Amino acid sequence: CGIIGYCGHRPAVPVCMEGLKRLEYRGYDSAGVAFVRQGEIAVIKAPGKLSALEEALEHAGNVMNATTALAHTRWATHGAPTTGNAHPHLDAGRSIAMVHNGIIENFAELKQELLAEGLTFESDTDTEVLTKLVGWCRARTGSMREALSMALSRAEGAYAVVLLCKDRPGRLWAARKQSPLVLGLGVGENFLASDVPAFLPYTREVVFIDDGEMVIIDADRHEILDAATLAPREKTPQTITWD
Ligand code: GLU
Repeated sequence: CGIIGYCGHRPAVPVCMEGLKRLEYRGYDSAGVAFVRQGEIAVIKAPGKLSALEEALEHAGNVMNATTALAHTRWATHGAPTTGNAHPHLDAGRSIAMVHNGIIENFAELKQELLAEGLTFESDTDTEVLTKLVGWCRARTGSMREALSMALSRAEGAYAVVLLCKDRPGRLWAARKQSPLVLGLGVGENFLASDVPAFLPYTREVVFIDDGEMVIIDADRHEILDAATLAPREKTPQTITWD
């Protein structure tokens, strides 16, 4: 239900945990965070309050080195509010992590296709199906942006998604359709979130992402694309004046 992603120069996990706290008003039943550590994706999740995730993070080894991370508070629609169903979810190769707000309406059909391809699933969520589909597409296209575009062309329903890939640990990919997604532009740091308050202490320069758009961020640059054609889109940032 709440999403925050960060690429910058600060320890990303604390930035994301603070961001989740500022999104708590949206409601949630579980939470999780992912980042790249020693070349692998680390995923830490917990059911219940953010304090449970904080507690899990205390036992998760070093979480302070990553300067890119994504995090999520979940409001379960498909699958009970358990640790396994909490986001982020991973693709089959454990090289892509994804968080998602919304509902993939045709997830059962997509899951059948992926099961027929020999993939297995660890959760009951619609989100894991889309994550595994992105991974499947990436094995056929090579690039994350093409894989996300291809996977989304098959997805019906509502989504805001943010993805991390272990091959490019300082970058995040995102897209939306009928679920909110906003880009925050800082100096040497960029943010993606489901709502502005998540990153307001760091920047007031924002771009509201529209349906059918994809965003790619690094610490010092961002790109907005048409998610279907991958053609670049020029959008002018606006300044938030409220607190
Ligand atoms: N449909 C997804 C799930 O049940 C996402 C729910 C949400 O928006 O938090 O995991």
